[in-house]
Amino acid sequence: MNNRLYGNLIFELSKPGRRGYSLPKNEFGHHEVPTEMRRSEDAKLPECDELTVVRHYTNLSANNFGVNNGFYPLGSCTMKYNPIINEEIAALPQFAALHPLQPEDTCQGALQVYYDMQKALSAITGLEEFTLNPFAGAHGELTGLMIIRAYHQSRGDLKRTKVIVPDSAHGTNPASAAVCGLEIVEVKSTAQGVVDVNDLRGLLDDTVAAVMMTNPNTLGLFEREIPEIQKLVHECGGLMYYDGANLNPMLGVCRPGDMGFDVMHINLHKTFSTPHGGGGPGSGPVGVRKGLEQFLPVPKVEKVGDRYHIVTSNDQDFNVHVGEFFGNYAVMLRAYTYILTLGKEHIRMVGPLATLNANYIKEALKDVYELPIPTVCKHEFVFNGLKDKSTGVTTMDVAKRLLDYGYHAPTIYFPLLFHEAMMIEPTENESKETLDEFIAVLRKIAEEAKATPEEVKTAPHNTPTGRVDDVLAAKQPILTWKQLSN
Ligand SMILES: *Cc1c(COP(=O)(O)O)cnc(C)c1O
Repeated sequence: MNNRLYGNLIFELSKPGRRGYSLPKNEFGHHEVPTEMRRSEDAKLPECDELTVVRHYTNLSANNFGVNNGFYPLGSCTMKYNPIINEEIAALPQFAALHPLQPEDTCQGALQVYYDMQKALSAITGLEEFTLNPFAGAHGELTGLMIIRAYHQSRGDLKRTKVIVPDSAHGTNPASAAVCGLEIVEVKSTAQGVVDVNDLRGLLDDTVAAVMMTNPNTLGLFEREIPEIQKLVHECGGLMYYDGANLNPMLGVCRPGDMGFDVMHINLHKTFSTPHGGGGPGSGPVGVRKGLEQFLPVPKVEKVGDRYHIVTSNDQDFNVHVGEFFGNYAVMLRAYTYILTLGKEHIRMVGPLATLNANYIKEALKDVYELPIPTVCKHEFVFNGLKDKSTGVTTMDVAKRLLDYGYHAPTIYFPLLFHEAMMIEPTENESKETLDEFIAVLRKIAEEAKATPEEVKTAPHNTPTGRVDDVLAAKQPILTWKQLSN
């Protein structure tokens, strides 16, 4: 499509004096804004009629690719379907119009939802208590590490300043540890892609605050040595942190609390289906085992009899504080709706289905795409580009070509363990038909790479924007529009 309403910025569609609204007649008399508070000149806002605005933004939205457009196998990010009922519940005025400072008597229902969600997460993970206050996965990690630090400090154990992080970890793990003022020590992976217990053994001493583990790890593999690892870490006085950003494959299968983890976070926006991307909004609840509840941040919701109360102080010397109010409440509502929609019985199927879907794709393509770690995966797995490296077609080219066929690309060039990484995560939502079509397209691209490599290397050809210069976009991003003087 190529017309005026599509290719232009809203500012370029502006016509001086054009209006898209009219204010009601003033019934309240004339009030002047004091001169010192006024602009010296009018704000440079676009002036458009309503129809132009609607068409402009509708066309722009069609320029994007989302879960509602097609298959979106973005490994590690879990682009799950967001059921419409989630949105209906989150939009109820009784929730949407809540005020953060509303007296607790007037929002008992909202507090109950917070409390019950916290309990639901405890049941799902086997941990004692949760805070829903953190605003993202990374924020949850930071909160969890602050809790761990507060725990060690409360015992006067001040030399524990190190956090051990696997080399395959999500980048937010070392980043959160650094923001928390802790020192990062990397533990190696084995050739099978899991934490190397021998390497870990050599790193453990009385300066270790915690070991952060992601399970399944970033390669989609289950960390089989957790029983041994948690024993070693606890023996040396450290705590076990579980990065549960991607809890999907564990749902109904096993619980971090039962495996010996002390603190964890969950990404509600990955595991429990809420829209995310472009940086938010998210929600990263943090759970702790029994004995660490007192380090959870306030505010929290307490239940006394059948009434819910907001607790704003926990009388601790080592307070963990991560934000006012109750986090991204509307994200939590959507996730809670997803949990209740599935119910105890069906939530057990999430893990097995996510795992089955990933393994189905992996097995169907491993003869044409290189599978560096050929074991059973959990909810996602990593290919190392095309098996036939002689064509010169890279993972980037395959990813761009997928767009031509109406599929979002997988996560590419992450994790950093393989040069041509392609990380595929189908989620539990997708039908066998969708998976089969996706497999057929990836096989077709593998054939094109041999027969017509130029076509793949110059893709995409069918999208509104062709291949962009990534380096230029990263080095010289143009993020603002400068008004041309007219
Ligand atoms: C996505 C992710 C995170 C970070 O979550 P954000 O909400 O993006 O901050 C942390 N760890 C893992 C394993 C993840 O996949």
